[in-house]
Amino acid sequence: MQDKIRILLVDDDEDDYIITRDIIEDIPGRHYLLEWAGSFREALAQIEQKRHDVYLVDYRLGAHDGLELIQEAVKKGSMAPFILLTGQSDRETDEKAMRAGALDYIVKGTISPNELERSIRYSIEHAKSLAVIQRLNTELEQRVKERTQELGAAIRKLEQTNKSLYEAEQEVRKALQKEKELHELKSRFVTIASHEFRTPLSTVLSSASLIGKYKSTEDDDKRQKHVDRIKSAVSNLTSILNDFLSISRIEEGKIYNVPSEFDLVAFSAEVADEMQGFLKTGQRIHYKNYRDKAIITLDRQLLKNILFNLLSNASKYSGEDRNIYFTTETTDEAIRITVQDEGIGIPDADKTHLFTPFFRAQNVTNIQGTGLGLNIVKKYVDIMEGTLSYQSELDKGTTFTIVFPLIANS
Ligand code: ATP
Ligand code: MG
Repeated sequence: MQDKIRILLVDDDEDDYIITRDIIEDIPGRHYLLEWAGSFREALAQIEQKRHDVYLVDYRLGAHDGLELIQEAVKKGSMAPFILLTGQSDRETDEKAMRAGALDYIVKGTISPNELERSIRYSIEHAKSLAVIQRLNTELEQRVKERTQELGAAIRKLEQTNKSLYEAEQEVRKALQKEKELHELKSRFVTIASHEFRTPLSTVLSSASLIGKYKSTEDDDKRQKHVDRIKSAVSNLTSILNDFLSISRIEEGKIYNVPSEFDLVAFSAEVADEMQGFLKTGQRIHYKNYRDKAIITLDRQLLKNILFNLLSNASKYSGEDRNIYFTTETTDEAIRITVQDEGIGIPDADKTHLFTPFFRAQNVTNIQGTGLGLNIVKKYVDIMEGTLSYQSELDKGTTFTIVFPLIANS
């Protein structure tokens, strides 16, 4: 047996209720339960409880009318079928009823049980379809919302990927650029090496063959001269090779700053002393330390290399009998080292390229060199977190200054 269909009649006239009840009782087959709400307010309260399957709403409702009630109920979210009961049948009422949300309208007084049954059945089915459509619609909206969110997430992800890709591309570009520079440096090494090696090697060759020719003891001096030449050529080769090695180790990131504590004054005096043997006739290194403080913490080996390079440049690019002033100064803030010469100086036009590998100024073409020393010095000073600067005047002399800031550690 089917459930009873619950009907709420909204009508302020009890007589109408009785008439309607009689008509409903005459409907064959189905069972109906008719309840009655006599006022707008009561009807609204009942509708909110959602206990009924269908509402028959009278057009006239005291101060209100049935259309108002239906509109109000629909506004409050009711999806139950409303059937409007009116006194007259005309198109205008029909349209008004539909617009307000009623599914059907019945003209009072002319209604037969069969017509009422049909209207109720149709309205209930219609309301059900509407509910399904509404549910599908809500689901669809929800789906669209979810998809939109998913899309947003996908777009953000894409943007992220794009950014990572861009960054990766930049990295690759940088690596490639570095690789290119290294490659260029290497090919320049090969060119310069073959060129630089030719002179000392031919010296070795010619001196060696001459030595072979000097047989008698009177030739001892000449022999010795060529032995010395060979020695000097070999040490020249060794120093070029060492520079090449240093550069390639720097490029590969294999040079590390390993600071240790030592006495700067004793160390500098020793370096000056060692260099003395390589100077030109009459040249002298004057070493001076300003300040008593001498114990410092730096990478000894790197510093020694730096000083050898600067002092040998000072000697190489100065004439005989010139002075080289070498100073150290340690304060609480910094260690300051200078190497000053009275040599040929650096032309202004060449100053910007001084630290570029293989670069040599235009006024040194007659003086032997590869143009690597200062590049190494600059890189070492960088590794030691110091700064390198210089001042130079053509034909007057050059001063190189290195400063290592002390970060409150001594
Ligand atoms: P090497 O690699 O054998 O040291 P180099 O002395 O030519 O060769 P760097 O020491 O790098 O190379 O110096 C580069 C250039 O800077 C020199 O060729 C020279 O032109 C200029 N230079 C460096 N020091 C001085 C200096 N004290 N006085 C004048 N010019 C200098
Ligand atoms: Mg040099």
